[in-house]
Amino acid sequence: MRIDLHTHSRASDGTETPGDLVRAAGAAGLDVVAITDHDTATGWDEAAQAAAEVGIELVRGMEISTRHQGAGVHLLAYLPDHTHPGLDAALDKILDGRTSRVPAMLDKLREHGIAIDITDVRRVADGTAATGRPHVADALVELGAVADRGEAFRTLLNPGRPAYVDRYAASLVDVIRAVTDAGGVSVIAHPWGRHASGEPGEETLAGLVEVGLAGIEVDHQDHDADDRERLRAIGRNLGLVMTGSSDYHGLGKVDHDLGCNTTSPDHYERLLDLAAAAAARSGRPTPEVLRP
Ligand code: AMP
Ligand code: ZN
Ligand code: FE
Ligand code: FE
Repeated sequence: MRIDLHTHSRASDGTETPGDLVRAAGAAGLDVVAITDHDTATGWDEAAQAAAEVGIELVRGMEISTRHQGAGVHLLAYLPDHTHPGLDAALDKILDGRTSRVPAMLDKLREHGIAIDITDVRRVADGTAATGRPHVADALVELGAVADRGEAFRTLLNPGRPAYVDRYAASLVDVIRAVTDAGGVSVIAHPWGRHASGEPGEETLAGLVEVGLAGIEVDHQDHDADDRERLRAIGRNLGLVMTGSSDYHGLGKVDHDLGCNTTSPDHYERLLDLAAAAAARSGRPTPEVLRP
């Protein structure tokens, strides 16, 4: 069983349509794939249709932009009812923050001597609900200002670079609670990917388990062997579900090929058991795992 629980389509900042993403997962020999676009469920229906055609197991999820103790945290939410009012409102607010940030980034680029029109960003971002820096990067590539997304982030879009603009992110604790209420399960994506390795640590994670966190993504390209070993020890201590995933973005992110990290069948089954329990408790019409 090859299980990849974190991928992106054009519904956010991947480069393939949801249908093409699922077909690529089938072609890559995966048995299970989760679609987890940033802050949106808009790719789910198309992905579900393709999964039925391909005969691959599909888990519908999303990766939600949150903040905890001053640091950005990406929260993977699996199988929630995305129409739950609390969750839907949180996502709307995050998406508004994404949209309103784009003109501010373009202003900074203009001050830096690079003129990009908002219509250019809208065109390269066609199909997404969650506009982000990767789409501004694509517009920069189109203009010939940089060679690829990586160069755009390194030279212009990362924190500390000339066109960086922060954006709104929801409270992690509030979002974990909303996901639970919506019948879904929460897993922190690449917990040590964007900060110094070691944070959030065991104490912080234990506190989050108290509010409903179910798991952490351990095997991710942002974690080196030492990070993974230490995260696995914390996961064992806290009884967390531990996942491994590619964080695939199509051509948008190098070294994140489908299936480059995978989740073990026993941890996947635990995740599904927790999702079934959360769904039953919530009374919400949650999406089912599509099994071929
Ligand atoms: P945003 O959500 O708009 O702040 O942009 C962050 C997104 O950009 C994340 O989904 C990352 O996967 C992606 N990203 C960050 N750094 C890079 C990079 N060097 N190359 C390609 N994508 C990146
Ligand atoms: Zn992304
Ligand atoms: Fe992420
Ligand atoms: Fe991701």
